Amino acid sequence: MTDRYKSVLLFGAPGVGKGTQGKILGRIPGFFHLACGDVFRSLDMTSELGKQFLAYSSRGELVPDELTIEMWRQNMHAQTVLSLFKPKQDLLVLDGIPRNVAQAKALHKSLDVLKVIHLSCGDEEAMMQRMRRRALKENRMDDADDKVIRHRFEVYHQETHPVLDFYHSSIVVNIDAVGSPAQVFMRVLEVVVPVQDAHFNQPAAAAN
Ligand code: AMP
Repeated sequence: MTDRYKSVLLFGAPGVGKGTQGKILGRIPGFFHLACGDVFRSLDMTSELGKQFLAYSSRGELVPDELTIEMWRQNMHAQTVLSLFKPKQDLLVLDGIPRNVAQAKALHKSLDVLKVIHLSCGDEEAMMQRMRRRALKENRMDDADDKVIRHRFEVYHQETHPVLDFYHSSIVVNIDAVGSPAQVFMRVLEVVVPVQDAHFNQPAAAAN
């Protein structure tokens, strides 16, 4: 288990802003952001896996675990081979995976999870509104229909939220996701910078 990727998880309900925070963080040297949903959306939709993704996501359901984990592994391998992700230099910022306890268990041998950043917002209506806007902007059919959005929340409460209990409470950090992207980002940085620093940055040699 020595070669597990050092990671932080961006965790939270649909529309809470995981992707927004992850994308900003991923622009900073020393962080590598990977959103499982983005990997799915980049698939060839005429391929077998692409068709499966469309079938499940258009109903607001999770793609079966085996397919998801296998795709995630292949993607991580490709990113590493291409040196886009450098496990010895970059803190991996995962968003949208694991999405249930079975996935958390399956990923345990690959991930050294240092922090779980739980972005929380009590206002589901505000999150739904955000998702409707995103549907228009990004052409996301899973966010276009209120019935599907509601089901995504049900799946989150039933399957995804219990993942928080899989991890030791000492590594779970609750962050208020209400505010502008910049305000929320400041809160996220307060958590991830010390983690990145402790695990990747060698102390500078003392000047003489
Ligand atoms: P997201 O962009 O994270 O909201 O994901 C969009 C859709 O992709 C989800 O509703 C699922 O259908 C699928 N998906 C993304 N990540 C996962 C995952 N870890 N496990 C299963 N399905 C996923």
